[in-house]
Amino acid sequence: MDLEREYLLQNYARYPLVLTRGKGIYAYDVEGRRYLDFITGIGVNALGHAHPRIVKVIREQAGKMIHSSNLYYHPYQGPLAKRLVEMSGLARVFFSNTGTESVEGALKMAKAHGRAIDAEKYEIISLENSFHGRSLGALSVTGQPKYRQDFEPLVPGVRFVPPNDIAALEAAFTARTAGMIVELIQGEGGIYPLTHEYAAKARELADRHNALLIADETQCGVGRPGTYFAYQRSTPVILPDVVVAAKPVACGIPLGFIIANDRAAAAIKPGMHGTTFGGGPLACRVALEFLDILDGLLPHIQEAGGYFHLQLNELARKHGFVKEVRGFGLMLGMELTVPGKQLVLDAMKEGLLMNCTHDTVLRFLPPYTVTEKEIDQAVKVLGKLFAKVK
Ligand code: PLP
Repeated sequence: MDLEREYLLQNYARYPLVLTRGKGIYAYDVEGRRYLDFITGIGVNALGHAHPRIVKVIREQAGKMIHSSNLYYHPYQGPLAKRLVEMSGLARVFFSNTGTESVEGALKMAKAHGRAIDAEKYEIISLENSFHGRSLGALSVTGQPKYRQDFEPLVPGVRFVPPNDIAALEAAFTARTAGMIVELIQGEGGIYPLTHEYAAKARELADRHNALLIADETQCGVGRPGTYFAYQRSTPVILPDVVVAAKPVACGIPLGFIIANDRAAAAIKPGMHGTTFGGGPLACRVALEFLDILDGLLPHIQEAGGYFHLQLNELARKHGFVKEVRGFGLMLGMELTVPGKQLVLDAMKEGLLMNCTHDTVLRFLPPYTVTEKEIDQAVKVLGKLFAKVK
């Protein structure tokens, strides 16, 4: 901790905890203390820590080849792309490393799509309170001034609209709109789902104006909502043109992706986009293993998520300072009328890892393997802490 204080950029406000290992839902600190991990590295360790099948393929593949670059083929990108196309209902995949990088690629796709139609068709619509990453492009579509203000001016041509306001959305779309980016469940912004009607209207307007609808599923996708993707939760499914994701895809080995339909994919021609690390053999092989395991876990995610939601609602009923419980599957948030930071620190002392976003929203992203017993344990800790809140 001392070395980090002296030598690292001071951009992170870390919790005073040094983690050294994990097994299943538990993480252990340097002194051997055990923590129930209900934040999973912000939604990354979807199978918990050190899942035996993931450890096995990492070991095997690390001994064969970790990286090969995108100059050459390797055995895992093609099968993984096929899986993602089948899961999503879209057509073509680009592999990246992070959510931010996936968002960047999707924005380039929308810009190139627009420009091929008209040089003035470059505008992107995004939502207030959204979060899409910290690079200049991703920040440009992130609808929260606190992340943007130190870096302005950012990429021009972005229009922000309030979520779930259909009239504002209709007013924002014009012939100049190249694309719209949405989180179906805003994560960093405090676990706010979009309504089905709103998503349907976004689809209709994007079609009417020949713009691309981009779903940023970095936090709300790849199993967490109890379906492969959040847009598959409601029927009829509102299919985006482009889906981006990252976080859980390779269980902690950095891997992100963009999946596009043929119309969107056609915007990217040879030489227009690329990456050195994206889609390496190690990451892709782990992702194939993860998706294989995920198939059998989706019903469990729905059940465990439903149970957790009920337990949180029960807590909310007992404690007046809980304003609302929101979310789907194993992406749940509890909005309080009091600040959540101290509760996060107190929970840590009680052996529970969670996090607080937007000052007052406790955020829970437990592993997809979480059991009812483990949920009960977490809820018990919350109950104990809530009883002391003034
Ligand atoms: N998009 C969303 C919806 C996110 O929640 C995040 C990160 O939390 C990002 C993009 C950025 O992803 P990364 O940190 O992997 O670059």
